[in-house]
Amino acid sequence: MTDTELFERFTGWIDVHFEELTKELEKLVRMPSVSRYDEKDAPYGRECLRALEFMRFLAESFGFQTSTVDDRVLEISEDLSKRGIGVWCHLDVVPAGEGWTYTRPFEPLRLGDYLIGRGTNDNKGPAVACLYILKMLKELGIRTRNPVRLCLGTDEEKGMSDVQYYVRTQPEDKLNLVADCGFPVCYAEKGILEAEIVSDEPCACLEEFRAGMAGNIVPDRAEMLIRPTEGACLHKEELGENVSTNAEGRLVRLTATGLAAHSAHPESGVNAIRLLTGAALKSGLLDGGTRRVAAFFDRVNEDCLGTALGIACSDEVGGVTTCAGTMAFLDADRRARLHLNIRFNVRSDAKQMIAEMERISGENGCSLQNVSVSEPNYCPPDSPVVTKLTDTFNRFSGLEKKAYLMGGGTYARKLPNAVGFGMGGLPKPETDLFPEGHGGAHQKDEALYLPNLKKAMALFAMGLLAADKEI
Ligand SMILES: [Zn+2]
Repeated sequence: MTDTELFERFTGWIDVHFEELTKELEKLVRMPSVSRYDEKDAPYGRECLRALEFMRFLAESFGFQTSTVDDRVLEISEDLSKRGIGVWCHLDVVPAGEGWTYTRPFEPLRLGDYLIGRGTNDNKGPAVACLYILKMLKELGIRTRNPVRLCLGTDEEKGMSDVQYYVRTQPEDKLNLVADCGFPVCYAEKGILEAEIVSDEPCACLEEFRAGMAGNIVPDRAEMLIRPTEGACLHKEELGENVSTNAEGRLVRLTATGLAAHSAHPESGVNAIRLLTGAALKSGLLDGGTRRVAAFFDRVNEDCLGTALGIACSDEVGGVTTCAGTMAFLDADRRARLHLNIRFNVRSDAKQMIAEMERISGENGCSLQNVSVSEPNYCPPDSPVVTKLTDTFNRFSGLEKKAYLMGGGTYARKLPNAVGFGMGGLPKPETDLFPEGHGGAHQKDEALYLPNLKKAMALFAMGLLAADKEI
């Protein structure tokens, strides 16, 4: 059979099974599997475990062997005793957030060719699709040289402790394909640095300061409740149209509304924390110490490049460093805290960046705390596997795309011999269903364009078989 005939057979098989697949996906989307660490007998919470058990049950009904690595990662294969190629997806999702317009986040809704619901895109759609790809290869009797194993994790969005646990305890695969990004191939992921900038002094005039609900989402809402200093008067007209004010007795509440975005692309959102600090500075209500802190937070979020923290860096191979303040709050001592999510150039040195950020924070009456670093992933763009996957994708999609680098963090950065491959990023028709800030991964009204998942499955299968011959 030629490759073209094989591709047609795949397309035919997928056509027949796609409706069934979509129904299974809807069941999975109904599970609010946001990972958490505080429930007994379930390392990432009962809902994540339920999602994992659901997929285990489905896989076993297809005749696959399954096993879970301490309820953290589910493995599915025809023969689990052999290692070869790992295909990775995750079943946990980011928190639902507010402001969904078509349906509730965990009540999937089909709207035309779209399936709307938290996790449809990231990453439950691809997870179910990959299981069906295995089923397809099995039913069509297509053998790979290297046994293929599907690995489904349940702590990707929050901490990736699932995959780290896996790598520590399980033997290595020759190749890992992570189906959690766009086609064709993601050959590198920027480093991720998270930290908190904390004010040295309590912010005396603040009763509340809060924004954000996850480290990797640029927040669309931020609030401050201010106890104005004696004699201060509010300069309301200067606050900007995205900031509202509300008197609460003697206190004044400022609420800023921005546009959420994934922190890997902070420039595509409007950071509500920046709107808020800007407005608070102009309001005339802050005391001197709080002003200084707010001004520093404001500069940190001024561009999305980390310029104010001395860490801006950009080049073609290593990518652009981005920096976003994604959460803000007052701690028990009333110190203001700004959580940073930084995606850094593949060739930047995290230690140097941290030293520079500590120095500059110190100069601004703050310190740097709770620093964590996830080192970048890099596989040369001209390596045989990357080339083969890219060429195969282009041949069968009719597109001409190049392997790329990204700021997003997937399992690839934690796994040996890993690249990102699919299953998103295929062109889709224009639609006015989703205004800005809606419809994408991590956004409200997260939606999956079903015809593209269908196409993606055949393309993924072709790539998988091509890579199998290279290793
Ligand atoms: Zn994902």
